[in-house]
Amino acid sequence: MFTSEAASSTVADQIKSSIIYLYFMRNQYSMEIEEEKCQFCGAPAKYFQFAAFICESDECMEKAMTERGGPAGHKKRKLEMMQQESSKQ
Ligand SMILES: [Zn+2]
Repeated sequence: MFTSEAASSTVADQIKSSIIYLYFMRNQYSMEIEEEKCQFCGAPAKYFQFAAFICESDECMEKAMTERGGPAGHKKRKLEMMQQESSKQ
């Protein structure tokens, strides 16, 4: 795909180093997460999602989602806004 190797090598090097940096940052981040506990069941946390530390169980993820208002809450708010708009007319 790359016809000029000399030109693409610097870009490739930049991409490579940024990927290594991101990987390093992610590793550091996940190490911190493992020190945390799931806010819902107390198991070691695996993810930081919806502004909550949660384990890998779907149940806890759903709980975190519900607490944050999640996609369902967002949809509901949108619907309420639409209903308000239509009642104005
Ligand atoms: Zn949990």
